[in-house]
Amino acid sequence: MTTIPHTASHQAPSREELEALRQRYRAERERRVRPDGVAQYQATDAEFGYYAADPYVAETEAADREPLHDTVDVAVVGGGFGGILAGARLRQRGVGSVRIVETGGDFGGTWYWNRYPGIHCDIESHVYLPMLDETGYVPEWKYAPGEEIRRHAVRVARRSGLYEDALFSTSVTALTLDEATGTWVVATDRGDAFRATYVVTSTGTLSTPKLPGIPGIEDFKGHTFHTSRWDYAYTGGTPDGGMTGLADKRVGVVGTGATGIQVIPMLAQDAGHVHVFQRTPSTVDVRANRRTTARDVGADREGWAHERRENYLRIVSGEPADQDLVADRWTESAGLLEKLLPSFRRQGDREAFEAAYEAADAAKMNELRARVEQTVTDPDTAERLKPWYRYACKRPTFSDQYYDAFNRDNVTLVDTADTHGIERVTEHGVVVGGTTYELDCLIFATGFSVGTSGVLSGKLPVHGRGGTQLLHAWASRGPRTLHGFTSNGFPNLIQMGSLQNASSVNFTHVLDEQAVHAAALVAAAEAGDALVEPSREAEDAWLAALAEDAPDHEWFHAECTPGYYNREGRGRPNGPTAYPHGAHAFHRLLKRWREDSMTEVLQPRTPTKDR
Ligand code: NDP
Repeated sequence: MTTIPHTASHQAPSREELEALRQRYRAERERRVRPDGVAQYQATDAEFGYYAADPYVAETEAADREPLHDTVDVAVVGGGFGGILAGARLRQRGVGSVRIVETGGDFGGTWYWNRYPGIHCDIESHVYLPMLDETGYVPEWKYAPGEEIRRHAVRVARRSGLYEDALFSTSVTALTLDEATGTWVVATDRGDAFRATYVVTSTGTLSTPKLPGIPGIEDFKGHTFHTSRWDYAYTGGTPDGGMTGLADKRVGVVGTGATGIQVIPMLAQDAGHVHVFQRTPSTVDVRANRRTTARDVGADREGWAHERRENYLRIVSGEPADQDLVADRWTESAGLLEKLLPSFRRQGDREAFEAAYEAADAAKMNELRARVEQTVTDPDTAERLKPWYRYACKRPTFSDQYYDAFNRDNVTLVDTADTHGIERVTEHGVVVGGTTYELDCLIFATGFSVGTSGVLSGKLPVHGRGGTQLLHAWASRGPRTLHGFTSNGFPNLIQMGSLQNASSVNFTHVLDEQAVHAAALVAAAEAGDALVEPSREAEDAWLAALAEDAPDHEWFHAECTPGYYNREGRGRPNGPTAYPHGAHAFHRLLKRWREDSMTEVLQPRTPTKDR
């Protein structure tokens, strides 16, 4: 029988148990599917102020500056880890002028904006933080707090000299190719219109906060904010807690995803009372965070971080590995990530694989439901906290404090599944099942819009050869790229992100490989006085490679409980969206291509570069 690699070895359920689970999962899904699907959400830029000015920048700091009209070698759009790594890898290649443009007031991306109490990364810090070998930094915790990660982003940027030319509190509004000079004109919301020979975009995947379109949400007269713009001026305290401003407050939290499960235990400690409005319970596995030393991770050896990161990627991409250096619940459950990541290496015969996969999935979910029962003392609350869906339907979460929070007298779980979420918000509180919960403060841990950041949403228009807009060029036949990075008609535009390449739960690793690749493309073009632009044939060949062997995950996600993985219950269409053999194999493919075939994207530069 086909084996599921690296799957927890819990007792496999019987055929009858599996059938009962399938039925229960279907019934639980029906409680949550809404006819309005993704339209149930709204952006946070409404006039009621959820998307207030950058809380980390004083108005004076973001004050007017003269617009720039100069020329740089490379413009990088986005100053999160992707943009920083692109800058760092370009510097290593000797590229002189790199200008990163970032909406926030500093580097860090998601770690700049998200500073909610309890914020940590649940991917091991020794593999999540990039460039540890180069910077010599050894993280202090197995799972780093957000501030340590943000400081590391700053460290890498500083070390690579990226502050010198960076533009903060600035958003790129358009990228336009000037064919006469062969340069890109980068327009921003601060009136800049500078030129760049190359543009690298890294505009994030989950960065625009979203709110549920609950009737009456604008009417709430208490205090309210989204977790990605935490209002410490109101709550007091820091990401480590001490929110004295909440001591006498009735606080409501909407959302129990990866953010909610980190925030709720912190609120439970500090707030007068916490009402947790839950629609779908997360799976909450063991986290076991602990202090780590350089010795624990073998940080005295050269290349230790590279080796650890590669080992982790192998395992979470479904490739066999001799050892498991990280050894946590991600790696232990890696065999259940096949449906979560379109790029996961499948093993063996399809039918046998699916049967083994479902059995392992059920065993894992039984273990997670048992964890709730063992921790939460009130049986009714425990029952409502149990997740009833297949493991990869929702992003897995990890916490050793979350369930304990529900044993406190000042925490109440309000199940909103039967009403498909909160029914109504009033001036004074929240209505669920006809009951009004009066609140002083309402916090939305409701996540981010998928695919609305930057280029792929159309928010940042890109005009290439002949003035053609990138998304228009793709309108009839879908996105067309070579390896996800470059597209015909858009010379010297290099896109980073998760389109038509391979992704992983350790996204910073993926971004670093992309940065290495982007820098190699620029360096090769510079050396050959050429343009980077794939032919249509090269794009066709890449799309064919993606389609061949593409996994069929459509049926799986169509049966899943609603969420952003399946367009709120509508399913996730198959398509050539990702390299089907996993991120580890994709990185090998890129490396080989750089060694053997990179010249295929180098075109003669006409007119000759003139700057
Ligand atoms: P999510 O989108 O994962 O969760 C949103 C939550 O809001 C869900 O629980 C959702 O319920 C709930 N919700 C939405 N609308 C309503 C409604 N009308 N009534 C009641 N509840 C509602 O957002 P997160 O911010 O938690 O996480 C976003 C992503 O950020 C994660 O998937 C992860 O990729 C990343 N992240 C990573 C962390 C890490 O440690 N690496 C930490 C935190 C976040 P339902 O599920 O029913 O839709």
